Amino acid sequence: MNIFDTHAHLLDEQFDADREQLLVSLPEQGITHVMEACCDEAGIDRVIELVARTPYFYGSAGVHPHSADEWKPETADHIRAALGHERMVAIGEIGLDYHYDFSPRETQRDCFDAQLALAAELRRPVIIHDREAHGDTMDLLRHYRGRLSGVMHCFSASYEIAKECIDLGLYIAFGGALTFRNAVNQWAIAAKLPLDRLLIETDCPYMTPVPFRGKRNDPSLIVYTLDKLSELRGADREALAEILYDNSFRAFGIEQA
Ligand SMILES: [Zn+2]
Repeated sequence: MNIFDTHAHLLDEQFDADREQLLVSLPEQGITHVMEACCDEAGIDRVIELVARTPYFYGSAGVHPHSADEWKPETADHIRAALGHERMVAIGEIGLDYHYDFSPRETQRDCFDAQLALAAELRRPVIIHDREAHGDTMDLLRHYRGRLSGVMHCFSASYEIAKECIDLGLYIAFGGALTFRNAVNQWAIAAKLPLDRLLIETDCPYMTPVPFRGKRNDPSLIVYTLDKLSELRGADREALAEILYDNSFRAFGIEQA
């Protein structure tokens, strides 16, 4: 079985002590591809370096809403250059976070919009973070109808919004939160969305699935999210994994070897 973890942060300091062992061990555990999501401008070159030396990794470049106030016009040039590197494929993670509000909302919207415009211009997929900002996120995405591809990461909105995102060209990714006992709404959504638009991810070191909630997450724990999704869909685990794997390459516009 091959699994693509479509959203991870292996560069997080929580992996400093054992990152190298983890990177070596993942393919043996069936995690054959990982998308390393970038969070801020300082992270862009670190993602390039990680991806360059880890052949089963892909990377994104972008500024997370938490860091939106660092956005400058030159940041777009840095992202543009990063995407010239092999296996640097997406712009992300970008979006709006009205839960933490670490940057002013207007600044978050400007930073998100600038990166959506860049993605549309470069025809690159986006990785979208939308936390408690569904209305404004959708308003911005609708401006790019016909020019969007990519992923709604850690999906937490409604079925109607999921359908609209798919209609806009995006894939819907579920992570460890799908295994939480109170995720009833997400279960219903994950059960009925079109299978060819679903993805799984870890968002590690965060969003650790049950039964390891409270501990550090890593890409090997993605199997608990796969198990939950196969239960919800009444689908064979291996067959489902294969579909999700193929979806991942399509979502990021990566040619499958
Ligand atoms: Zn993330």
